[in-house]
Amino acid sequence: MKRTHFIISAAAALIATTGFAPKRYAVTHSDAEWRRILGPDRFAILRENGTEPANSSPLIGEHRQGTYSCYGCNQALFSSRVKYDSGDGWPSFWTVLPHAVDYQSDHELIGEVRTEVHCSRCGGHLGHRFDDGPRPTGWRYCIDGLSLRFVPGHAA
Ligand SMILES: [Zn+2]
Repeated sequence: MKRTHFIISAAAALIATTGFAPKRYAVTHSDAEWRRILGPDRFAILRENGTEPANSSPLIGEHRQGTYSCYGCNQALFSSRVKYDSGDGWPSFWTVLPHAVDYQSDHELIGEVRTEVHCSRCGGHLGHRFDDGPRPTGWRYCIDGLSLRFVPGHAA
């Protein structure tokens, strides 16, 4: 492979894997519309990458069967079957429904790179994924309860 071709394909791969290029989401709204739909607290988390206070979400203690969907666009994200009590202060899951989320690197904390989790349908920021979760995946999806809507009943 010629060097220029390699550089171009390397750049394309970087864009594909890091989300450098802005993605076109299936659900989009203006900031004003999102504010109206979500209200200020959910807007801060889903649209401004905020984090709710630890131990503030009623969903931490939610143990019924059901499905956790994106508050912004209703896409199903997590099954109650993969929810667990991590003790970290946020609703926690050890995996996610197929194709439900995208990942981005978060450099907000100096010296630490965290993996941000975003809804793949509207781009809403949901929380972070860490690698200290339980078997079989070893993942801990640390998710802001305000970004979720719990639908009791069928566990996706
Ligand atoms: Zn969404």
